[in-house]
Amino acid sequence: MKVGLIDVDGHNFPNLALMKISAWHKKQGDNVEMFFPMMHYDRVYMSKVFTFTKDFDTCVNADEIIKGGTGYDLQNKLPIEIEHQYPDYSLYNIKDTAYGYLTRGCPRGCEFCIVAEKEGQCSKKVADLNQFWNGQKEIKLLDPNLIACAQWKELLQQLIDSNSWVDFTQGLDIRLMTDEKAKMINKLKLKMLHFAWDNYEFKTYEKLKEFRPLLDFNFRKLRVYVLTNFNTTIEQDLERIYKLKELDYDPYVMIYEKWNAPKNIKQLQRWVNSKWIFRSCDKFEDYIA
Ligand code: SF4
Repeated sequence: MKVGLIDVDGHNFPNLALMKISAWHKKQGDNVEMFFPMMHYDRVYMSKVFTFTKDFDTCVNADEIIKGGTGYDLQNKLPIEIEHQYPDYSLYNIKDTAYGYLTRGCPRGCEFCIVAEKEGQCSKKVADLNQFWNGQKEIKLLDPNLIACAQWKELLQQLIDSNSWVDFTQGLDIRLMTDEKAKMINKLKLKMLHFAWDNYEFKTYEKLKEFRPLLDFNFRKLRVYVLTNFNTTIEQDLERIYKLKELDYDPYVMIYEKWNAPKNIKQLQRWVNSKWIFRSCDKFEDYIA
């Protein structure tokens, strides 16, 4: 069988589903490649993660086309035998980084987030580390809320034992942090950790403040997502950003429906997320002056 793969979102971040599909088909002895226009395929998989990405509009010459990913709908899922494949990293020429999920789901159900609807309102272990890691120097975790999982301890221990650099790309829930969890996180070879202060409320601030002295990392490794353009004013956004800087975290602005955001929110994002500007220009008013 000749199989073509289309990463509809582009190539900025490797598409994990396509890497698993590739691995599974190769095991069946199929010929797999990234889709090439003009070629005929027995089957083409199109994967789209983001709803805002435009659909693929090049003509696809294939007997069968399978579309999947949250960019199309929240119901479609990989068949179980594909979901648990070790990813075919060669698809993106990835040499020394592993990508994957140890858990899926999140108990929070934030209004702006699709995780609970797509993966369930409970964080559940779905894999051991060796399902997608085989000695690579870096691990990029895509878990939505790992420390909400009942097996958090066992999973953090697997990450510690790997001795690889760990990047929690999607965020750890500071509201669920405990002394024991912080101690284990300190044992990791941490590349980057993300918390989030998405809503303007003080419980999160208090937890961030309480645990900052217990986390043995430089602010550059302790990033905090700040959601804007959702239900906060620019004054509330600025307050969160200044407070995070004061606590020695590294704020990182996310914009809800960016295409719909006012100019000042986009300026705010540029100021905060361009790290050398943010560190050299203390006040937003000075940046936009
Ligand atoms: S805590 Fe994070 S993953 Fe969970 S629902 Fe909220 S935004 Fe989504």
